[in-house]
Amino acid sequence: MQPSKPHLETRAVHGGMEGLVESGSHVPTIDLSTTNPLPSVELGGDSYENLATGGTLQPGQSAVYQRLWQPGVARFEESLADLEGAESAVAFSTGMAALAACLLATVNAGKPHVVALRPLYGGTDHVLDHGMMGTSVTWAHSVDEIAAAIQPDTGLVIIETPANPTLELVNIARAVAAAGDVPVLVDNTFATPVLQRPIEHGATLVLHSATKYIGGHGDAMGGIVATNDEWAARIRSVRALTGGLLHAFAAYLLHRGLRTMPLRVRAQQATAQELAERLNGHAALARVIFPSLPGCDPEGLIGTQSEGPGSMLALDIAGGYHAATKFIESLKLVGHAVSLGGVDTLAQHPASLTHRPVAAEAKPGGGIVRISVGLEHVDDLYEDIAQALEAAAG
Ligand SMILES: *Cc1c(COP(=O)(O)O)cnc(C)c1O
Repeated sequence: MQPSKPHLETRAVHGGMEGLVESGSHVPTIDLSTTNPLPSVELGGDSYENLATGGTLQPGQSAVYQRLWQPGVARFEESLADLEGAESAVAFSTGMAALAACLLATVNAGKPHVVALRPLYGGTDHVLDHGMMGTSVTWAHSVDEIAAAIQPDTGLVIIETPANPTLELVNIARAVAAAGDVPVLVDNTFATPVLQRPIEHGATLVLHSATKYIGGHGDAMGGIVATNDEWAARIRSVRALTGGLLHAFAAYLLHRGLRTMPLRVRAQQATAQELAERLNGHAALARVIFPSLPGCDPEGLIGTQSEGPGSMLALDIAGGYHAATKFIESLKLVGHAVSLGGVDTLAQHPASLTHRPVAAEAKPGGGIVRISVGLEHVDDLYEDIAQALEAAAG
């Protein structure tokens, strides 16, 4: 009998650990070597050429130089690729470095036009609107606008679901169909492969800010793209030549984070669900935005495209901009900081902060506060949020 394919939880724990037992280690070692011995002049040259053009380390070859290949980074990549159901993954120093590599590869292939669906993460919106990487952008505001926005030189369609900060859900399969031959990149940072695997719905590239749920403890930055072998070679080559490599220590922490990610993501999601239900209808709130609340998932994507709503919650404070700032400043247990996906609950006000440089049409409402729900007890979180809502209303 064929052994069955292990479940995601099992693969998250054991992924990327090959060869450890033979080497006498229980966890990956952190190899800080910036350079690596070259076995011979000829093998050194072959190794260099292979790695600089986007290849992976071959048996008998040298890693040459850390910018070209780092063994701990490769272990992390192998595990994340497996969780996303991708052929390969390529890791970068940050999520934005990962996005920049995808955009550079697109420009380099002679297709500098990007179709992007708003809303997106503020940094992604900013970099596309600015054209900093040599791309031009046509903004779509619904999946229905994607097909008409495609041009002969369109190299990429970019979507995010759930989207930052308003948690709109996007139908990935419909976006892929609308994009035709153009590859679709899905920013899967909020959902993680625990809840949603975009490649199963036809996406070509899956981007993560690993800084968030993958690391999960707010102590390491990283980005990673899961994709097919051909795209992986292209962006690995961009990484080797432009230098956005993930550091060995961050790779260690992010790989360690992956092992508990399924547990954390599901526990945080259960708390967020309970908080959303308790807060829904609160007099100081115009609206609670959470994908599984009535009206937030008109296409029925939860249960088909994703396993659940995740643990990002948005509160639309009834008093608007000033009440929202009062609310944030009245929180005691919940931290006031950007970033998300960690073990502790954080709140931020996108209109004044992360979405400040974003065009007016794409700016979230002034009353919106984004909350990343952590692993604290739900009663403690509710109590803190309720007292801050009272303070904001008073
Ligand atoms: C944080 C974030 C990014 C950018 O990642 P960094 O690691 O901060 O560079 C991209 N997309 C989303 C959805 C994010 O939350």
